[in-house]
Amino acid sequence: MHPSPELANDVLAWVDPGVGRFERALLLDRDGVINVKIDDGYVLDFDRDFRLIDAFERAMAPFCDARIPAVIVSNQSCVGRGLIGREAMREVMTRVIAALRSRGIRIAGYVICPHAPDARCACRKPEPGLLFEAERRFGIRLGESAFIGDSATDATAGERAGCPTFLVDAADEARYFLAFEQAYRLTAAPLRVGNE
Ligand SMILES: [Zn+2]
Repeated sequence: MHPSPELANDVLAWVDPGVGRFERALLLDRDGVINVKIDDGYVLDFDRDFRLIDAFERAMAPFCDARIPAVIVSNQSCVGRGLIGREAMREVMTRVIAALRSRGIRIAGYVICPHAPDARCACRKPEPGLLFEAERRFGIRLGESAFIGDSATDATAGERAGCPTFLVDAADEARYFLAFEQAYRLTAAPLRVGNE
């Protein structure tokens, strides 16, 4: 086992109680992967700010069919910057999860770093702590899972955590689908390592 870094104990996390423990998951960054990223802004109000990326529903279909659990892994420094409270952020996430479920996409949970960059926490990507938090909370094996992000910080966090990472580009739909297909091939394949 790799050593997990010390984490601030106030990571925002939620686990769907209807989903049992699972060994592998599709880890998803939120802004730029699930919903359209707002330049120099944050999703502070669901109705005003959250717009699903057009391709997301179709890209997720194979994971839904194969019942591969999806977990959201997201930096939301808007909490630490004082732009939104923790409970309001939880309410935004509840709306996000309900909106996805209405399209047949079930999210098994989320882990969110609420800290501002100057807090120097161990969870804000590119640090790997948020991925380790997902590993701990869900019991997943990061090396058998896949992470889809949209930035160099996601790639670095995935590399440091030992989780295969694929990047999407909002302006390139072919690359968007390719990242999901690569992640699917990995997570739908037989486990590469035997049971411990
Ligand atoms: Zn953090």
